[in-house]
Amino acid sequence: MNRSLADTRRWVREGTELLVHATTRLDEAAYDAPSHLPGWSRKHVVAHVAANADALANLVHWAATGTPTPMYASPEERATGIREGARQPGTRLTEWLRLSSDALEKAMDELDDNQWASRVLTAQGRTVTATEIPWLRSREVWVHAVDLGGGIDFTALPTDFLTALCDDIVTKRSNAPGPEVVLQPADTPARWYLPGPPDDDSAAVTVTGPLTEIAAYLAGRHHGATTAEGAAVPALPAWL
Ligand code: ZN
Repeated sequence: MNRSLADTRRWVREGTELLVHATTRLDEAAYDAPSHLPGWSRKHVVAHVAANADALANLVHWAATGTPTPMYASPEERATGIREGARQPGTRLTEWLRLSSDALEKAMDELDDNQWASRVLTAQGRTVTATEIPWLRSREVWVHAVDLGGGIDFTALPTDFLTALCDDIVTKRSNAPGPEVVLQPADTPARWYLPGPPDDDSAAVTVTGPLTEIAAYLAGRHHGATTAEGAAVPALPAWL
């Protein structure tokens, strides 16, 4: 699907609201408990998403002023922010998430068309137009809301967002090694294809299930997708 700036900005607002609401229900013990991400507590997840809003606000500043302001000063700074953030009390993390998300939202509100069209560099070294910033942010808030492990799963995510997410991950995965897979959700007409190794002439595996499970599978999260025959699906390498 062609996602518009209006779509991605709406997804940011809705996903942020869901995630912030989920964090306000966590007491200190629940905040310290493991998330669905290996080795990360819920505090790590929230510190990461809050720091990501600050980092993306740097890109908005870049777009607004033309002055190169990278997301993170260095990969070490990014890692330290998550580690130290995860030592704070939960109430402070919720507050950081709320304030950093609000600041990002306000900064995006102020960009004009020319600034949205200007080019910035992501932490992964990709040059993108500023219109990608709300897409990157929507991916963070929605997928990490699931990772939080607070009862939110992929069925809470909007269908149009899930379709855009599958498009995005398939594009990325098509340029990296992995199995040849046809992705065929049972509940939408959308279809995706992962090419697999060039010298492999075995037939592609068809993976099916609800769109929510196809998206979870592609994102490398816990999922309920199966092959067309109902068997286990091929493992996919890391996505990001
Ligand atoms: Zn993330």
